[in-house]
Amino acid sequence: MNILLLGGGGREHGLAWKLAQSPRLENLYATPGNPGIARHASLLAVDITDHAAVIALCEAKRITLVVVGPEAPLVDGLADSLRGAGFAVFGPSRLAAQLEGSKGFTKDLCSRADIPTAAYVRASSEAEALAALDSFTTPVVIKADGLAAGKGVVIAETAEEACAAVADMFQGAFGRAGAEVVIEEFLEGEEASFFALTDGATIVPFGSAQDHKRVGEGDTGPNTGGMGAYSPARVLTPLLEGETIERIIAPTVRELAEAGMPYQGVLFAGLMLTRNGVRLIEYNARFGDPECQVLMMRLESDLAELLLACAESRLGALPAPVFSDETALTVVMAAQGYPGAPETGARIDGVPAAEATGATVFHAGTALGGDGVLTASGGRVLSVTATGADVSEAQTRAYAAVDAIDAPGLFCRRDIGWREVAREEA
Ligand code: ATP
Repeated sequence: MNILLLGGGGREHGLAWKLAQSPRLENLYATPGNPGIARHASLLAVDITDHAAVIALCEAKRITLVVVGPEAPLVDGLADSLRGAGFAVFGPSRLAAQLEGSKGFTKDLCSRADIPTAAYVRASSEAEALAALDSFTTPVVIKADGLAAGKGVVIAETAEEACAAVADMFQGAFGRAGAEVVIEEFLEGEEASFFALTDGATIVPFGSAQDHKRVGEGDTGPNTGGMGAYSPARVLTPLLEGETIERIIAPTVRELAEAGMPYQGVLFAGLMLTRNGVRLIEYNARFGDPECQVLMMRLESDLAELLLACAESRLGALPAPVFSDETALTVVMAAQGYPGAPETGARIDGVPAAEATGATVFHAGTALGGDGVLTASGGRVLSVTATGADVSEAQTRAYAAVDAIDAPGLFCRRDIGWREVAREEA
């Protein structure tokens, strides 16, 4: 089969690396891709906001399956346009992608389907939001309704901070994403991510992970797109995983199907493991980055076959995906200045030496010059990934690979996996 992969980050390099292992793959194309993805795919240039142009490309390349990496094209309805033109797509429709695109949509769905999540109020004006704040104790969580690249969430410790966050959002700090806000009860516990593939009817568990959103060691400093992750997240025990599928994932899939917007793709559930059980924090309509990279390292089944079955509504006919029992851990190397204003252009040497240690180096923001020199071209640059019998071993191996990379313009956290390492040492 011929596959077109949309995106150009570390997540898409992870997907390309795994898709390239499929015996069923004939040609893999990617747009825009990156120098790492180019090792597995032919890179094509197309404006993915131009749906007619993407359709023309799929016709020209006789594409069997389109795999959509990031959320923006899904929320923009690209999957609908491609399906309308007769192409199989891994990724939800515009309506189903509201699970990620509108926090209020997801909270209302949870309320209808009795899915355990934080208590909430939706507000579409500042006055409404300020009035709603009275019914919450602090800390309280204020969220812009729409996509805000992980930055539209404020955990307010005091009533003053909460009022200021509400004012900011209605004054346009997050553009249209903040035209409506969701105010939420603060949940206490440890976070974990759970993934499931679904074709709208069948649900297939697809592993767990724990990521590290803050830029600094010990989970300090500003939020980022993710500085590292590991899988599986053993804190999400088989019992809690069962609870997640039964009480969160299954009712979501059922509710969306009944509402005439069946979900086809990956459901990425952000969970809080509270004293009172698992609570849904949020849904994403795509794989996480860097969670995807660690899932791909552990996946033993044919990814191309799974994603095509998902897109063609025949997931139930396939055997359940198999994952290795090993732990995979990835360390993100980012450009100095990230997540503020990353300094691009830094030279990167030593990627082959890092891979010679047995690790896999996924590219995100990299550029390859005509002279063969690799440089940083974005905030998150590399995702250095290794496996081991447990998190401690995978962590040791991942940092050995990081240390083989010579790139003074990049930095990373040195404590990825720390919660689990502490548990393993206890
Ligand atoms: P991203 O897509 O980058 O994960 P987002 O902007 O979609 O983020 P959320 O995932 O809803 O936003 O929230 C971001 C983070 O804020 C969560 O990972 C969690 O740490 C914290 N958070 C969100 N909601 C709550 C809550 N109700 N209680 C406690 N913490 C929360």
